[in-house]
Amino acid sequence: MKRRRHIGQVLRFGLLLAISLVVLLAILVFSIGPSFVAKRFNPISHLDVQPLSSTAQALHQSLTIADLHADSLLWGRDLSKLKNYGHVDVPRLIQGNVALQTFTVVTKVPTPLLLEGNSDRSDNITKLAILQRWPLRSWFSLKERALYQARRLQSLERKASGQFRLIKTQQDLSNYLAQRQQNRSITAGLLGLEGAQALEGQIENVNRLYEAGFRLIGLAHFFDTEVSGSAHGVDQRGLSPFGREVLKRMENLGLMIDLAHASSQTVDEVLQLTTRPVFVSHTGVQGTCDNARNLSDRQLQQIARSGGVIGIGFWKTAVCGEDVSAIVRAIRYVVDAVGIDYVALGSDYDGAVRVPFDVANLGQITQALQTEGFTETEIKKIMGLNVIRLLQQLLPA
Ligand SMILES: [Zn+2]
Repeated sequence: MKRRRHIGQVLRFGLLLAISLVVLLAILVFSIGPSFVAKRFNPISHLDVQPLSSTAQALHQSLTIADLHADSLLWGRDLSKLKNYGHVDVPRLIQGNVALQTFTVVTKVPTPLLLEGNSDRSDNITKLAILQRWPLRSWFSLKERALYQARRLQSLERKASGQFRLIKTQQDLSNYLAQRQQNRSITAGLLGLEGAQALEGQIENVNRLYEAGFRLIGLAHFFDTEVSGSAHGVDQRGLSPFGREVLKRMENLGLMIDLAHASSQTVDEVLQLTTRPVFVSHTGVQGTCDNARNLSDRQLQQIARSGGVIGIGFWKTAVCGEDVSAIVRAIRYVVDAVGIDYVALGSDYDGAVRVPFDVANLGQITQALQTEGFTETEIKKIMGLNVIRLLQQLLPA
């Protein structure tokens, strides 16, 4: 009898210990996990980073800088606070003299992630949503993931104590730029979507996303969607009938099109259909880095003819190099191919890529463009004015 009671006590103690260990482990995973993952996936190489000359510094401070793509909302950190990991937050945007950062929202990424031939059957973002304790409904719905990240950007506007604006209309943009003439310690964001899978095949969701503040929509990400084929998808198809309906709805609302990641047939069909210029928010060019992810010379011509803007990415598969000279080589290629008015920055900061420097150190590009021999007027366009010009034209009035 006594022996049995002893065994019972040991079992109870063992169970208590096991539960405590599980709870401790869960606390550890949910508290340290998100920043651990964000650090691991978004490294900075610091490769070939040079001190800025005084002329580069002065020119950089005079610019109105815009970047077309950062996935910073995907990671759990508070973007109003300066962090020593990841690539973007409000204090670093201000340090880097960035006037406008596009925050793009990722909702589903296949695993393993291939450059070609991904199906939509697997997903890595669910794990991230659980790890970061996103709302329960976002674990099961791509639309809810998009809406949750949109709410995070809206709350950033509240948290950043006046240092961050969310731009939704032409009026917002012109008011903000006028204000920025007086005060350089402010920055702004534009909300974009990376892949129309978040529409979940429902046309009303175009309106829902518009109301949530989205202004730029990428038609596909790493797999084919109900709207269109992806450059990394299975069948390289173009627009579906639903996709054509989505484009029409977007055009009526004043939602802009992002052709990054779209299949080449989708690029062709969209440019035939749309009367408005398009963005390619983050890409490389096959002329300096030949792979399925990057734009061909023919596509560069098509996009420039539409009056669109091409954002050059900072990571290895975009520019076939890991330093600023690879980025500038791609920029130079676009300028030589189609002219100075159609190229921009499309970093893909915080997009699970390794980059040479974070947003606080964008002066590296200004300096490298000077060294490359671009004039001050040309550098102003590349670093932001091309994007601002297009937004002034395309944002809802
Ligand atoms: Zn992307």
